[in-house]
Amino acid sequence: MLELRPNCELCDKDLSPSSSDARICSYECTFCADCVERVLHNVCPNCGGGFVQRPIRPKEAWRDGTGLVNDPAGTNRRYAAYTREEIEAFAEPLRRRSGKGSDRS
Ligand SMILES: [Zn+2]
Ligand SMILES: [Zn+2]
Repeated sequence: MLELRPNCELCDKDLSPSSSDARICSYECTFCADCVERVLHNVCPNCGGGFVQRPIRPKEAWRDGTGLVNDPAGTNRRYAAYTREEIEAFAEPLRRRSGKGSDRS
C-alpha cells in the first residue's frame, strides 16, 4: 500500500493525500509536480526512474477497511539526500539516454 508521504522531498511543499500535484517513482519517492518538471526533469534523484501522478485515496470507506479513515496518509517527512547540483549532474546523462524521460531501462 502507498504510504502517501506528506511532503515534496526537495522543496518540502505539503502534498496532501488529495493533492493532484504529488508525483511518485516506483519506489514511492515523492516530489511535487513543479520540482519533477523543473528540477528533476522526470528523473528520480534516488533511483533514476521516472515519475507518475500519485493516485488519490478516497477519504471515505467505500468498501470496508479502505479509504483514509482506515488507512491514513503517512506523516513521516522525507528530504532528498542530494543538493540540486548533484541532482542535475545525476539526471543529465539519464535524460539524454532516454530522450523522453519516462522509459529508461
Ligand atoms: Zn517540490
Ligand atoms: Zn525513486
